Amino acid sequence: MTGPDPIGELGASISHCRICRDCPAKGEADRLPHEPRPVVALSSTARLLIAGQAPGLRVHESGLPFNDASGNRLREWMGVTRDEFYDASRIAIVPMGFCFPGYDDKGSDLPPRRECAPAWRGRVMAAMPQIDTVLVIGQYAAAWHLGPRRKGSVTDTVKNWREYFLVNDGPRILPLPHPSWRNTAWLKNNPWFDADVLPVLRRVVDSLMGRTNFG
Ligand code: SF4
Repeated sequence: MTGPDPIGELGASISHCRICRDCPAKGEADRLPHEPRPVVALSSTARLLIAGQAPGLRVHESGLPFNDASGNRLREWMGVTRDEFYDASRIAIVPMGFCFPGYDDKGSDLPPRRECAPAWRGRVMAAMPQIDTVLVIGQYAAAWHLGPRRKGSVTDTVKNWREYFLVNDGPRILPLPHPSWRNTAWLKNNPWFDADVLPVLRRVVDSLMGRTNFG
């Protein structure tokens, strides 16, 4: 006889969520225009959590988080293989919006659905108390995980990563820019990220993946 499985039960509840289709926060005009497909990787053992933005179309179609060029860059930043990245026993992946939000008029991905974090995020974090470090990717994750402690821009928040990584009540927070190709110019213009932040990220990942000891 197996015991209770809170992570499995929460994952099942999330997979059935249809809030953005059935009762969108901003009314009928804001209804999600496609069938929701929540894409998360919850874990009862992972000590590393990736808090991303929202799935893109390719992720929506495959059901695999970061199964795109952004994911390739993120894996390179972290120094992990695809197999390691998708091992939910070691890495949990929970974006700010679990479903692909669709496109705006210019063909860009819409922001994460506003309904998702209030409905789920507190429960998700409470269900994974073993998380040691959260990789906070982009402005929406920074807003939720850092609240008023974040700076006025993602650049300044990432630049001040020590404030969140070295001193935090809950898990350590390491803020990152989004690994999207759209941020290639940002990466060129902010070489300190490569020089200062990525080595720390790789050491943290090494440690939490059980390869080395780190702090
Ligand atoms: S985005 Fe979140 S709240 Fe909206 S339908 Fe998907 S899981 Fe539910």
